[in-house]
Amino acid sequence: MTIQQQIEALRNELNEHNYNYYVLDNPTISDFEFDIKLKELQELEAKHPEFFDANSPTQRVGGEITKNFETIPHDFRMYSLDNSYSKEDLKDWETRIEKMIDGAVEFTCELKYDGASISLTYENGLLVQALTRGDGFQGDNVTANVKTIKSVPLKLKGDFPPKFDIRGEIVLPFDGFNKMNEERIEIGEEPYRNPRNTASGSLKLQDSAEVAKRPLECLLYNLTGTNLGVKTQFESLEKAREWGFKVPKASKLVNNLDEVLEFINYWDVHRHELPYETDGVVIKVNSLQQQEELGYTAKSPRWAMAYKFKAEQVSTRLNSISYQVGRTGAITPVANLEPVELAGTTVKRASLHNADQIVKLDVRVGDEVFVEKGGEIIPKIIAVDLSKRLPSSKPTEYITRCPECETELVRQEGEAQHYCPNYNGCKPQIIGRIQHFISRKAMDIDGLGGETVALLVNAGLINNYSDLYELTKEQVIPLERMAEKSADNLIQGISQSVNIPFERVLYALGIRYVGETVAKKLAKHYKTIDAIVNATQEGLVNVDEIGVKIAESVQEFFTSENNLKIINRLKQFGLQLEISAEQLEGLTNILEGEIIVVSGVFESVSRDELKKLIEKNGGKVSSSISSKTSFIVAGDNMGPSKKEKAEKLNIPILNEYKFLQKINI
Ligand code: AMP
Ligand code: ZN
Repeated sequence: MTIQQQIEALRNELNEHNYNYYVLDNPTISDFEFDIKLKELQELEAKHPEFFDANSPTQRVGGEITKNFETIPHDFRMYSLDNSYSKEDLKDWETRIEKMIDGAVEFTCELKYDGASISLTYENGLLVQALTRGDGFQGDNVTANVKTIKSVPLKLKGDFPPKFDIRGEIVLPFDGFNKMNEERIEIGEEPYRNPRNTASGSLKLQDSAEVAKRPLECLLYNLTGTNLGVKTQFESLEKAREWGFKVPKASKLVNNLDEVLEFINYWDVHRHELPYETDGVVIKVNSLQQQEELGYTAKSPRWAMAYKFKAEQVSTRLNSISYQVGRTGAITPVANLEPVELAGTTVKRASLHNADQIVKLDVRVGDEVFVEKGGEIIPKIIAVDLSKRLPSSKPTEYITRCPECETELVRQEGEAQHYCPNYNGCKPQIIGRIQHFISRKAMDIDGLGGETVALLVNAGLINNYSDLYELTKEQVIPLERMAEKSADNLIQGISQSVNIPFERVLYALGIRYVGETVAKKLAKHYKTIDAIVNATQEGLVNVDEIGVKIAESVQEFFTSENNLKIINRLKQFGLQLEISAEQLEGLTNILEGEIIVVSGVFESVSRDELKKLIEKNGGKVSSSISSKTSFIVAGDNMGPSKKEKAEKLNIPILNEYKFLQKINI
């Protein structure tokens, strides 16, 4: 095989795996094996720039920076949809159609995906352009960002027309949205409000590598162009699916309005089970010929109609507003409601986000408020029923002091949130910081949970995370629900955590805006905590991916006498506050979480050396193959029964060179 053929083969293979994973939701290889192949392709492409291809799967990681998005006219206008809210509205629409069309009319029913609309252009099976809707006549060129979305095919399969546009919606499924928010809360950022705005905001990010990290999906619903070789909307959906697009299967072909209503009623209930947000159903005349006869109004097609689900909404009384204090001192106002049924659950509380939101809604204790459940887990208040407002009601005054420690709150310019600045004396902050310190991605202390941390703080046994390392068994045994055995486990868990590598300790410190990735970058760049303590703002900003906001936060953390004292104690207790010799030698935690079996005889390294390498790079060596095995490093003479088992369980087998390449040796 020539290099070019090798590159092509890898591209095809990776495209297929992307398709299986992101379009069909049915992966056939492990993430790990995928990464190996992707890396192999990246290396080949780097060595052979003459075979560059803008649609190679390696281009999905992004990296292109767009400062200003170019505005480009749509070849075919992107219309809006007319909305309907009732059976009667739909009946009226049907009557209008019957007046213009002779004969029977079939309809397709599709879900109305709630995200950002997008128009993709394909030429000869390759994605050449992606435009936002804009004003419908022209949109912004967001091709670099859209390419990073894995369910958007860069290369089509089957018998596609030479040139066409396809329209769809970029959505952020709930799972991914919630995960993104968890990460933001971890580093002290405000969570995103809803999936739709986050999806459309993502399309306009300047750095496509950032977009690549967001779990966006693209759901397609409309084929546009000339000579497409299809006669109906339903057929075009099926064709698009064949060419490799993600076209949700919920779409249905129906014969009359009753069946349309059946579809609507079904999804009005079942939409809550979907992985992404929908706000209605779109009904379209199925025959493209009939569509053409019906044509367009100034704004929208006459052949399509959106039916909007009623947002599930109830009204209830606002009993009180309470204020929560987070780990970073951020204050979140929470509405305590008269309990009420909404979308199948009893709602007692709703988020009010921040002071501005309270002013905007002008919510007052005693008001009757409308509560809605959108994509978020916590319902929100959308408006006040002013007709029911009591004459005696007074505007809500936002608290000026911390509800936990009475310290005067501060609000920095440009920030929506108020903060309690009593970093060292405010209980929820103290507890929250220690809880973060022991959490799984940080020090991962076995035998110690968040509730126990609160008990320990409330009992006056600890006041910051360095105190953990002086705890004794005798001190903890009297705590609630603490038995001899669990006390042992707790103390042992704490003492074992001194081996956790520097980058995770750095993350565990809970410096605002320093998440896992930033902690890794800082650890790698500065190598010791002392170097970070002494780092200048300029120096920090020069580290890849670190901006002024993070730099300031790092400096602020390390100018606190108290923090420096705590860090000194952590040093005394033996925590890893610099990169270990192994890490300096270029060893890593690349294999973290991987369970690896070594089998056979090797050419360049001994079996023992291989095992050591696995452990030093964070992996676990196991002697037997099971479904938990991540992969096998196999030399010559791998046992036939092992081989058979590996194949049966679909476990990747790597030779020693591939393995060494994986750990960058
Ligand atoms: P609206 O923004 O309320 O005028 O609704 C029109 C928008 O709905 C279109 O621009 C599309 O982005 C979006 N949409 C979502 N799902 C569909 C679908 N299945 N068919 C057509 N449009 C859809
Ligand atoms: Zn406080």
